[in-house]
Parts: sequence; C-alpha cells; structure tokens
Amino acid sequence: MDDTHEPGRSSWVRSANEPDCDFPIQNLPFGIFRRRGTVEKARVGVAIGTMVLDLVDAAERAPTEFVGNREALEVCGEASLNALMALGRRPLRVLRETIGNALDLRNTVAQAQMKAALIPMADVEMFLPAQIGDYTDFYASIYHATNVGSMFRPDNALLPNYKYVPIGYHGRASSMVLSDTPVQRPVGQRKGPNDAEPSVGPSRSLDYECEVGVFVGAGNALGSSIALADAEEHMFGLCLVNDWSARDVQAWEYQPLGPFLAKNFATTLSPWVITLDALEPFRAPAFVRPEGDPAPLPYLSTPENEAAGGVAITLEVRLQTATMRERGAAPVAVSQTSFTHMYWTLAQLVAHHAMGGCNLRPGDLLASGTVSGPGKSERGCLLELTWRGAEPLTLPSGETRAFLEDGDLVELAGWCSAAGFRRIGFGSARGIVLPAGSVAGGTA
Ligand code: CA
Repeated sequence: MDDTHEPGRSSWVRSANEPDCDFPIQNLPFGIFRRRGTVEKARVGVAIGTMVLDLVDAAERAPTEFVGNREALEVCGEASLNALMALGRRPLRVLRETIGNALDLRNTVAQAQMKAALIPMADVEMFLPAQIGDYTDFYASIYHATNVGSMFRPDNALLPNYKYVPIGYHGRASSMVLSDTPVQRPVGQRKGPNDAEPSVGPSRSLDYECEVGVFVGAGNALGSSIALADAEEHMFGLCLVNDWSARDVQAWEYQPLGPFLAKNFATTLSPWVITLDALEPFRAPAFVRPEGDPAPLPYLSTPENEAAGGVAITLEVRLQTATMRERGAAPVAVSQTSFTHMYWTLAQLVAHHAMGGCNLRPGDLLASGTVSGPGKSERGCLLELTWRGAEPLTLPSGETRAFLEDGDLVELAGWCSAAGFRRIGFGSARGIVLPAGSVAGGTA
C-alpha cells in the first residue's frame, strides 16, 4: 500500500470527493473515449469523479508532472489499451502515481495547468477498453456450479474434476460489446425436456450472468507458462462482465462440448478498467476449502495466493422493466454477492490457462464465471434466482420474471469498501433486451 491509497487524500476535481463516488482519486481506472458528437480519434482517459482526464492532453499541459511516464504516454494516444497493457505492471503503477499526484487537491500548479484536459463524462463516448483477441469464460463459483449442475444433472451436480481443474471454455470475442449497447434476443434451437424435437425461434429463457473480467497485461510467449507467483504481473485490471445466456439453447446444445450459441450473441463489459494497484486495499484470502476438499495441485498453490489471492468486490445486479422505465422507477436490486465466494482466484485462472503453453496476449479477457454466493439472494443469474423459472421474482412494479423479457434493462454494479480505506467503484455494465430478429431460413 502507498500514498495512492491514502484515504484522506482528496482531489481538486470536486465531484471525486463525494462519498459514494465510484471514481475518487484512490481509484483512477483507465478507459477509451472521445468527445461525443466528434470524429476525433479515441484515446486513453482516466475517470476522476464525474470527469474524464484526457491523458495525452494533460501531459502536454503539465509536462513536469508526467516527466517519468514517457514510455506509457507514447501509447496513450491509441484507440485501445492494448499497448499500455503490453508494458506490464510497473509503468502502469508509476503512471497511476503520477496521475494521483497531479490530481491531488494540494497540487494547485497542476490544477491550473490541467483543468482544461478534463471532459465531463456526460460529454464523452466510451469504447471497448481493448481489442480483445481472445475471450475465455471460467466457471469459478462452486455455488453457481453446484446450483446449475443440480438443475441440469440432478444426480451428478458437481462433476469430479471441479475441485482440481478451473473449468472454462473459449468464448467469442467478436460479440463483446460495451455497456449501454442494446442486446438482441437470440434465436436458436430450443428443446425442452418434454419436447420430442427441437424447434427454432427466439430464446424463451434469456438470462444474464454477473461476472468479473480480468484483462491480460503483459503476455507470455507461445510454449511458455506463467507461474502462479507471477500471475498478477500479467494482469492489467478488472471490469464487470455480463455473459448473456440463452438457457433453453444452452440446455440442448451444451453436451458434449459446452456452451456455444447460447452465449456467443453478446457479452457486455463495463467501460472502466480498475487496476490491480487500485484494488490493493481490498485483497482478501482465497476461498477457504472445507475439510475433505482436495488441496489445489502444486502449480495452483502458493502461500501468497492463499493469504491474499482474493479480491473483496461487492457485486449487485439490478433490473428495470420497460413498465418501470415508463413510470420513472429506477432499476431495482435483485441480488448482491461478493467476489470472495469464488473457488478459484484470478491468479489461479491465469496460471492454469497458460500451463500448457497457451500464449495469453495483452487485451485478452478472462471472465470469472457467474459470481454466486451461498445465500439465495447471492445468486448471480436468473437461472439460479428463479430455479430455472420455477420460482419467479416479483418486482416492486408487481411484475414477475422467470427470465428476461424484451425491454428489460440489466445493470451490473460493483464496488469495494473496507474500514480505513476510501470506497472505490467499477461503474456499471448495462444493456437493454431488444426483440429477436428474423432467422434466415425461417423458424419452425
Ligand atoms: Ca458465464
């Protein structure tokens, strides 16, 4: 921990000092933006309060502040974070320190120089933080895996590999979209347990999955692996991920190779990437395995990972129906859980992913899998919350939901708070469900 986490530190950007602000001076997440309504080149920005700091512009206006950041600044004019991610943890850590010092309330010189490099968030358009070459989705919550397994395979809920292997599958990178991009209900093959044949049409059980994603920073060469002890040096930062899922399509197609069209139509990301450095005060022990569970295999085990491999992020899912929106009702929380419930840490996911020589590249995204905890109100998707539709939710509007309806807005939010530290937030990942499109070849 260092000065950047000092809870008493405030900024001359006054909105950053509001107690519930997601982006105080202790956070400083990175994203890609341009001014709304312009055709200017998108570039790297940092969120501070309700403003975006244009990094290249700030460094030009206050060169003495940024004198130690030449390498990082050379890539901050780019329209994705990939090149900044590729530099690894140290230049990023130094850049975050510089930005914190420059935005510090006591730095009146930098304030005078840099205030024109701030743009209100309301006036910017955000873009995906990185060009995501590869996307992997894990299944790291044992509560989620057990709940889902018991619905799909009542006699065989948790498969015997679960406590040894961080289970994952290779997801689709091309359909990853930024928060606020509408999501069209997918069409697919649906077959219920009592149907003789599958039919083709819009999914009748569209769901969300509340997850945390980690962007890979420095990569590893093909044929090399990443030791668990070094895994965090290969992580740039975290974001929120909604892995939209068509459960009826999934149930029919998933055997024997896992999810495919049930999940490849859209995945929504939050725009700001929270660095591991900002998350330092909120590190937590890895999941404590109950007696009788096997210990992680040696390549997935270090004392450091056990002691502090977790991150205490509170995650909340909010839902707003079209009727609620018409009445001016805000999205309502339907579940809340903690990222500390994950059976595997992010470092274990990274180390496992690369163990066979798979090269992770800057900007690759690894998502955690649905974050569910032990409690009923801690279930990170509707499949679990409504027990496959058997126990629909009743919303304050009087409406019920087994799965998502057209017009529903799903909003994921995340934040970290701990005694003695300033609360930091992730912003949100939102999307509205649009009606299904037509199918080439027709439905049946
Ligand atoms: Ca998932």
